[in-house]
Amino acid sequence: MSYPPCPQCHSEFVYQDQNYLVCPECAHEWNPDDQDSFAVKDANGAPLQQGDKVTCIKDLKVKGSSQVIKVGSKAIIKRIVDGKDHQLDCKIVGAGEMMITAKYVKKA
Ligand SMILES: [Zn+2]
Repeated sequence: MSYPPCPQCHSEFVYQDQNYLVCPECAHEWNPDDQDSFAVKDANGAPLQQGDKVTCIKDLKVKGSSQVIKVGSKAIIKRIVDGKDHQLDCKIVGAGEMMITAKYVKKA
């Protein structure tokens, strides 16, 4: 079994110590199961994944149009992106595809 390189110094000489991985070169320790550092979370703090069904928790204005995504609208997450404002590339039922801010939805 090989371990991922150290996230701090990219050393390949990583070893496992109980639930943690340890880097002998920079002494960094981390939990390999804890990959939430850039996880996208909904309004309740639940992590979101591609394919999740979500519901809008507020009316969302669609940029550049007069269209409004009503609170309660259902959407399916097609893709999660590492965006500053809009992390969810969604297909919204009845409204088509658009980018949504993760904190304005909750997992359905
Ligand atoms: Zn290291």
